[in-house]
Amino acid sequence: MLKLLLFIGVVSAVYFFFFKKKSLPPSNDTSQEEAMIPCAQCGTYVQVKETLMRDGKYYCSRECMEV
Ligand SMILES: [Zn+2]
Repeated sequence: MLKLLLFIGVVSAVYFFFFKKKSLPPSNDTSQEEAMIPCAQCGTYVQVKETLMRDGKYYCSRECMEV
């Protein structure tokens, strides 16, 4: 009987762990904003929110974009 209780305890602990992990709010939005991507022209890594975009490519500055 004690073994069964222990087994149930372990199973529910594992289940709870996975369930808790899955139900965490997605933090993709903030991490994507902080992500660094290389400039398509000079290769300098810049934050996504600081880049300029043209034709689906990211550029670190107007100078790079207009080359
Ligand atoms: Zn650049």
